[in-house]
Parts: sequence; C-alpha cells; structure tokens
Amino acid sequence: MHRIEAIEPELEWAVLQYAVDRIHLDPPPLDHPRSPAELAAAAGQTITPGGLGGLEALRVFAEVLAPANLSIDHPRFLSFVPAAPTEASVLFDLVVAASALFGGTWLEASGAVFAENQALRWIADLAGFPPSAGGVFVPGGSAGNLNGLAAARHHWRSEHPAHHATRGLVAACRSAHSSIAGAARLLDVDVLDVPADPRGRLTGDALAAAVEALPAADRDRLFAVVATAGSTNVGVVDDLDGVATVATDAGAWFHCDGAYGGAALAAPTVRSLFRGVERADSFIVDPHKWLFTAYDCCALLYRQPAVARRAFTQQAEYLEVINASEEWNPSDYAFHLTRRARGMPFWFSLATHGTDAYTEAVEATLAVTRAVGELIREAPHLELVLEPELSVVVLRRLGWAKAEYEAWSARALAEGLAFVVPTTWRGETVLRFCFVNPRTTVDEVAAILEDLRRT
Ligand SMILES: *Cc1c(COP(=O)(O)O)cnc(C)c1O
Repeated sequence: MHRIEAIEPELEWAVLQYAVDRIHLDPPPLDHPRSPAELAAAAGQTITPGGLGGLEALRVFAEVLAPANLSIDHPRFLSFVPAAPTEASVLFDLVVAASALFGGTWLEASGAVFAENQALRWIADLAGFPPSAGGVFVPGGSAGNLNGLAAARHHWRSEHPAHHATRGLVAACRSAHSSIAGAARLLDVDVLDVPADPRGRLTGDALAAAVEALPAADRDRLFAVVATAGSTNVGVVDDLDGVATVATDAGAWFHCDGAYGGAALAAPTVRSLFRGVERADSFIVDPHKWLFTAYDCCALLYRQPAVARRAFTQQAEYLEVINASEEWNPSDYAFHLTRRARGMPFWFSLATHGTDAYTEAVEATLAVTRAVGELIREAPHLELVLEPELSVVVLRRLGWAKAEYEAWSARALAEGLAFVVPTTWRGETVLRFCFVNPRTTVDEVAAILEDLRRT
C-alpha cells in the first residue's frame, strides 16, 4: 500500500516535476477563490472506494484545485501578511516529508533538532538573548502566543503557590494580534486592555498607568504583559524597553510578539526600534511571514527554557526513556508531542544562502516600502495614514468610503492586478499594503497606485 511504484511508476516524477514547475513560475498566477458548487462540478467526487490513481488525482489538483488557491507568494499579493518562501526552503520541505522525521525528541531526530536549534540560535542572537535561551518551532504565531502565555501562567503559579486557583490577568494593547485575546480565552484568563498611543503603539507609560489604576487584588493577578514588535494592522513596534521595565516592576512575564515584524531584527536600518526585546521572557517570530520560509513555521524562544519545560513536559510510562535523558527534546517546549521538524526548511535556506542574504532581502522590502511611501506622499489622490515603520503601508484614497474600497479591491483581484484588501484605522476604512516579497517592485506598486487614481 505504501509503495508508490505499486500505483503508477510515472507518479514520482510527475509530482516532483509539478513542484519544480510551480517553484519556477515567476510570477505564479494570482488566482481567485471558487465556490463550493463550482469546485464540486469541476472536481467531482475525488474520494472513491477504488481510488482515482495518482496521476488523475494530480490532474484534478493542477487543473481544478490549484487555481482556486491564491498564490500568497505573488509579488502583488499585498494583503494580510503574505509569504515569499525561497526555493531552497520549498525544496527542502519535500525532503522533510520524505525523511519521516519525528521532530519531538532528541532520541528520534537528534540531527534535525541540532539543525533547528542552530536556526533558533540565529534568531536568539538577533534578539540579544542569553546563551541559555532556547525554544522550538511551532505551527504559527497563534500557537506561539498561546504557548508563551501558558508557560508564563504556569511559572506564575509555581512561584506563587497561593495563586494556584487564582484567575490570571494578562495586560495587552488593543493593537495586539487577535490571537492574544484568543489565547486568553483558551487559558481562561482576563485581559487588561491598555490603550494605544496615537500611532497604535503600546507604551511603557500607558501600561504603567493601567497597572497603577488596578485594584490591589487585580494587580496580584497580573502574570504577563504582551508587547507587539511589528503590529499586524499598521506595522508599528511597541515601546519594548518601556514595557519591559513595567513588566519587571510588576513581577510579570514579558511576552513579545514579533510574528510579523521580528524578521526586521535582521535589518540594521530599523534594528533600533526593537530596543528592549532582549528583556523578553518569551519571544516569537514567524519565518513563514517575512523570513522567506515555507509554511508553517513559528520560532518560539524562551529566556529560561527550563520554565517552559516544567509547563509542558508530558509524563507517562512510555515516555520515561525520553524524560530520563538530559538531551534537548522539542516536545518539552510547547503543547505537542509528535511534531513536524518544521524548522528544517528554514534551516536549509539559512544554511544555503547565509544570514547576509536574509539581511539584504529584508532591507530590500524595507526599501520598496520607503519608495512606495514617497510615491503616496507625492500623489494628490492619496494620503499616508501613518509614516511606515516596517513594511506595512496604510493609505487613504481621497474621496473614498468603505463601498469604493471594497469594489476596487474585488475588481483588482478579479483582473489579476493585485490582492489588496481594505482594513480599518480608528474607525475609517483605508487600504493596507504589506511587503515581504523581495520580488515586489516599486514599478508594479506604482501601477496599483495609478489604478487607484483612474478608478
Ligand atoms: C500573523 C500574526 C500572528 C499570528 O500568526 P499565525 O502564524 O497566523 O498564527 C500573531 N501575531 C502577529 C503580530 C501577527 O502578525
């Protein structure tokens, strides 16, 4: 059953050829979503008692399903946070699957874990973490935030046994990612909502005021503070150093969410925005966003990994041999046991190209962002809503309201011009570009801006 040649001998090369051809599409078609009815009509019933055969299943994917998936790596996919994986990372993703790596334990995958840890160390060094820091690759920023806060709560309760049944409280700004509120809900803790400054940043002063205003009983419940290093909506970096000071004074864990923006630690032109990140107790960055890695990949780092180990290590008879060892077991640093060695495509790409190439690629996207900012400043029909800090640009098309933005966005996708969805800033509908793809050129963004004028 598991032997591929028992199916069709050409299938191996057909699948590999498809993957290689897809990597070489430059650009890939932007594509657009189809309705369930359209897909059902075109694909038919694909799960059958006898099987379609691999070549036919591949045909259905290539002809019907693939065009119904947006190409996140298209240079004019500028919505949400796009992705731009290197060829090296994508190719190596095939190797990871083929190698049947069990990335949970040193015993089972010491080679992969060693390599993943070197890749994590590069990020730890960029952030200025001590040599003792360490962590694990988890599927995404949402999982990273949940695990970081779970470790924080476990630590708080073990340091303060009197709080073993106290409901915890996390301080976060409204501009923090939606997964922070989601993690708080799952952990059944409350969120202290701290107002943002006019640029949408959490500052140490605002956090200090919010903490001081708490009744003493609530101040006792505060176990963690979250800051964002590159907000998803507008791409600004919180006052990390100020937040770290307030967290230290309050005896709270400092979790820093750099899922999108943490990549810019590699960029000297903006590195100073991140002052204070080195004081975080836990820190995340998604290499699948702005570090050119195949999905899915979030680096989760702890200042003191032993704290996370106490929160997450699972105990059972069949795990005794693992838990008795002194080696680094990634399964100990988040809630999981079996895990894909999802840091390996990132490692392979870093090892292939070297870290200087990462610095250059992040700086290239920042340079495009600055040039686009300049075009918007000069265009009479457009206005920058905020000065860009990282690689998010938020702009207003003068004279437009929600309906015009939405109609333009739908047409731009339908025509293959670009994928740009509106967002809101202080209640106003605006447009947002997020640049993470070094292949995006200023000229093609200029064409989008020109289309906004003509519409
Ligand atoms: C994207 C993002 C997340 C969530 O990451 P996923 O990988 O989508 O789960 C969390 N925080 C920030 C700041 C983000 O931009």
